[in-house]
Amino acid sequence: MRILIAEDDIELADQIKHALTSEGHAVDPVHDGEEARFLGETEPYDLIILDLGLPKLDGISVLKYWRNAGSNIPVLILTARDGWADRVDGLDAGADDYLTKPFHIPELIARTRALLRRNATQRNPVFQKNGVSFDSRSGRVSLNGIPVTLTAPETAVLSYLFHNANRPITSAELSEHIYEYGVDRDSNTIAVFVTRLRKKLGNDLIETERGRGYSIQLVA
Ligand code: CA
Repeated sequence: MRILIAEDDIELADQIKHALTSEGHAVDPVHDGEEARFLGETEPYDLIILDLGLPKLDGISVLKYWRNAGSNIPVLILTARDGWADRVDGLDAGADDYLTKPFHIPELIARTRALLRRNATQRNPVFQKNGVSFDSRSGRVSLNGIPVTLTAPETAVLSYLFHNANRPITSAELSEHIYEYGVDRDSNTIAVFVTRLRKKLGNDLIETERGRGYSIQLVA
């Protein structure tokens, strides 16, 4: 999944990026409100982590701008310890969740997982289909109870398909959601990842809808 971090504390932004990258996400960090507004408007993020105290343009203004423009991307705001009024303003401006500084990184990661599941067909963090089990907390995958080792991009493709089950997803959409900003995207590689996933996890997990993309069908 693709995540934007808008945080001007560079060290904290790096820590968050590191933690989310090791969860298998593609993460774009920015350090001021103007950059955040621009990328949040132009790139198809699955989640945005937004510090409210940002230089150039404050987080509340950025969030209001996105929501007025019709964006429904889940947004987790970061606020100061005594910032209860900011939390109220943030939630009223369209934030989906908040975290007060200082926080523990594992709590942030757990909240991101919950927010990423919010648009999914199911709330259970373990996705299952045709003997395949994908635990979105650990990234572990098994087939009929036997662990299967996937590469990072294979896991990212599988995760995106499970989180967006029951609709066809094009190679272009998949590549936009598994690569970071500025990476040279070649959507032809998506077909290679899908072929490898089918080899490892069985042919009937990922369906091809001719001319429309790939899908995993889950019972709603
Ligand atoms: Ca700040």
